[in-house]
Amino acid sequence: MRGSPMSDWRVDTIAAQRRPVEGLVGVDVAPPIHSTVAFAAPSAEVFAELAVQPRVDDFYTRYGNPNHAETAAVIAALEGGETALLFASGMAAITATILTFAAGSRVVAQGELYGGTVGFLEGMATRLGIEVEFVGHDDLDGFETALQRPAALVLLETPTNPLLRVTDVAAVASLAHRTGAIVAVDATLGTPINQQLLSLGADVVLHSATKYLGGHGDLTAGVAITSALLAERMWHDAYLMGATLSAHDAWLLHRGLRTLPMRVRHHSDSATAVAAYLEGHRAVVVVHHPSLASHPQADLVARQMTGPGGVLSFELAGGLEAAELLVTRMQLVTRAASFGGPLPAVVLPATMWSGMGSSTVEEMVPAGLVRLAVGLEDPADLIADLDRALAGL
Ligand code: PLP
Repeated sequence: MRGSPMSDWRVDTIAAQRRPVEGLVGVDVAPPIHSTVAFAAPSAEVFAELAVQPRVDDFYTRYGNPNHAETAAVIAALEGGETALLFASGMAAITATILTFAAGSRVVAQGELYGGTVGFLEGMATRLGIEVEFVGHDDLDGFETALQRPAALVLLETPTNPLLRVTDVAAVASLAHRTGAIVAVDATLGTPINQQLLSLGADVVLHSATKYLGGHGDLTAGVAITSALLAERMWHDAYLMGATLSAHDAWLLHRGLRTLPMRVRHHSDSATAVAAYLEGHRAVVVVHHPSLASHPQADLVARQMTGPGGVLSFELAGGLEAAELLVTRMQLVTRAASFGGPLPAVVLPATMWSGMGSSTVEEMVPAGLVRLAVGLEDPADLIADLDRALAGL
């Protein structure tokens, strides 16, 4: 392990390893938790030096912590990026990106974004004077036109939650970079296992690590992966905004990462089987999943993604009433607002997001849409449960 740069390793190896600790002969195979608010400096000189150093790991935990450093190193390596910054939630990573790069300027944002992100753009960001223009996720002419006026930030999400739309990151990034805008992409549903968006031109990749990166439904966290230069700009604002991830949650996140590749492969394979089953059922009007040949951007999926991911959504012919009945009848799924953990989770997005203050989402999500995120169960059991619950609908 010692002396092997992570960049030489394949994804399963990167995820499973620990960052080698310099200077130790015996290294603990599981990392310790540095549950401390501050670190004692050996002298006044060292204290003064650490106090002004950016992204320091052993001064004050809001500035950085060894658990942050170790976890961030693995995430950065998985995304093929220089640096990762950890946050107390996915929304904290997203809002820090918007506030750092777009303050006093303009954001060009994809219309289909997570409801909370749209709520922030239409709410606080607008109140702070940030101008926001929404463009359809597949409207490249629209992005080109919107970028004719100066914009500091282009904000994308792919695949989207809950409709699994895919955005052409390489195409939008090349339009944005001609004008000097920074491109940030929420890649929560895709994970670094199924897509490598920095290599396609994204400047900042964002994740709600609450979902697949954590992977067990027991922590809330966010991450931004970017260049060392942009990370330093973000850090200078982020440590003052204070959405610090606890050392304990950083440690849990690291533990989740160690099984990320195998979990995501299982989720992808299961969701592919479930999507194919649902597409053949007469009660189902449409299924949204990147694995399907019927996906409106199947060519782009093939170019941009190496796996489809574990979230799918579908619409029942019987609308909201049938959707409610389906969820009530199912035995294996939990009705829970998150996804990415071991249990399959189901929600009706139209009812869940009506309170998030995001007008765009309300317009786009049909009332009878069911979002199903597969878990780590055997997909045959989930399909049998769906089959029972769909009978007669
Ligand atoms: N981005 C996407 C795509 C999400 O689905 C979510 C939460 O569901 C978020 C961001 C927000 O993440 P968090 O709840 O960790 O703040």
